[in-house]
Amino acid sequence: MSKVLVIGAGGVGSVAVHKMAMNADIFSDITLASRTLSKCDAIAESVKARTGVAIKTVQIDADDVAATTALIKSVGPKLVVNLALPYQDLAIMDACLVAGVHYMDTANYEPRDEAHFEYSWQWAYQDRFKDAGLMALLGSGFDPGVTSVFATYLKKHYLDRIDTLDILDCNGGDHGQHFATNFNPEINIREVTAPARHWENGAWVTTPALSHKQSFDFEAVGPKNMYLMYHEELESLARHLPEIKRIRFWMTFGDAYLKHLEVLQNVGMTRIDPVIYNGQEIIPLQFLKAVLPEPSTLGATTKGKTNIGDIATGIAKDGSARTYYIYNICDHEEAFAETGNQAVSYTTGVPAMIGAAMILTGAWGGAGVFNMEQMDPDPYMDMLNKHGLPWSVKELQGPLAF
Ligand code: NDP
Repeated sequence: MSKVLVIGAGGVGSVAVHKMAMNADIFSDITLASRTLSKCDAIAESVKARTGVAIKTVQIDADDVAATTALIKSVGPKLVVNLALPYQDLAIMDACLVAGVHYMDTANYEPRDEAHFEYSWQWAYQDRFKDAGLMALLGSGFDPGVTSVFATYLKKHYLDRIDTLDILDCNGGDHGQHFATNFNPEINIREVTAPARHWENGAWVTTPALSHKQSFDFEAVGPKNMYLMYHEELESLARHLPEIKRIRFWMTFGDAYLKHLEVLQNVGMTRIDPVIYNGQEIIPLQFLKAVLPEPSTLGATTKGKTNIGDIATGIAKDGSARTYYIYNICDHEEAFAETGNQAVSYTTGVPAMIGAAMILTGAWGGAGVFNMEQMDPDPYMDMLNKHGLPWSVKELQGPLAF
C-alpha cells in the first residue's frame, strides 16, 4: 500500500496510471501531475471509467525544481515516476533529493539543444542518491527497460556468458497516416536521425544514421527491414555486462516513413538549432511537432502488432555455444481497448508500472542510481507475464548476421 506521484500525462503516463489503478493493492494512492492539467483530468476520467479508481491531478512545470519539490512534499509519495520528457530528468531527480523520495524514469536525460544520448549526467547523481539512502531507477520502459531485463534473464537462466547481444525493435502497426511518430515526435526524430553506434570489442563503432539495414522475419508481423541505430541501453549494458563483445540495436522503419524523414531532413525541418521566422526564434523540429499528429490520437486507428526482443549468443550452462531469442508481441488494438492507448505507449507504460511496483514492494531496492540490468530479473519477468506483456524464449541456429 503506497502513495505514488506520476509526472507526465502523455501516452506513457496514461498507460502507467491505468495499470497502477488496476493494481490498487500496490498503488493505493495515485497523483498524476503534468504541464497541462486538462490532459491529467482526461486521463483521470478514463481511469475512473475503466477501473473505478479515483486519482488526483495537479498542474506542474517540472523544469521548475522548487515548484516540483514543493509538490512532492505536499503529496508525500514514496516514489516519483517521471514520465515527462527526457529534458526534465535532472530537475526531477534534484527535486526528489531535496524532498527525500525515490525516483524512476523511462528515458535518459537529454539536453534540449543537442541530440546527445548518454547516462553520464544521471550517473553523476550516484553519490547524492546513495548518501541520501534513496533509489533512482533509470529506464524502466521497454527499450530501455525490458530489453535489459531480458538480457539479464537469459544470463541468469540460459547462458553463463553472453558474447553477442542484438536488441530488435519492430513496430508492425499501421496508423493510416502518411507520416506520424508513435511517441513524442521531437524525441523520436532526434533519436532516428542521430548517427548509429554499436559496441564492439570494448569500443564504440559509429556509422551514418540509417546506413545499415537487414531484413528479419518477426513472429506475428512478418519480414521487415530493420536498421542499425544507437539506443541508450547499449551504454549501460556495455558497462554492467562487460563480458559482452558486441551489442547492437535494430529498429524497423517502413519505406514511406524513411522517405518522408529524408525530405524533412533535406529541407531543414528536423534541425534543433533556432532559426528566425517573422522576427521570432523558432526551432524547426519543434514546429514540425506542432503540425504532426499527436501520438496519443493514433491509438484509435492503429492496427497490427509490435515485436521487441533480444537475441543473445554465448556459452550455456553445459559449456555448449547457444543462441536464444527472447521477445514480447503486443497488439495495438488490444492495448487500445484496455487503456485507450496504442502499443508503443502500452509497451512503455506497463514496464513503468512494474518498475514502480518493484521499488514500492521492496522486490528491488538499494541506495544510489541503478540501471535495470543491475537488478534481479525474476520478479520483473513474472509481472510482465501477469500484466499484459507475456514473453517467450526460443533457441535459434546462431547469432544474427551483420
Ligand atoms: P508525450 O510527449 O506523449 O508526453 C509527455 C508528457 O510530459 C506530456 O504530457 C507533457 O505535457 C509532459 N511534459 C513535458 N514537459 C513538461 C514539464 N516541463 N513539466 C511537466 N510535464 C511536462 O511522451 P510519451 O508519453 O510518449 O513519452 C513519455 C516518456 O517516455 C518520454 O521521456 C519518452 O522518451 C519515454 N519513452 C520511453 C520508451 C522506452 O521504451 N523506454 C518508449 C517511448 C517513450 P504537455 O501535454 O503539456 O506537452
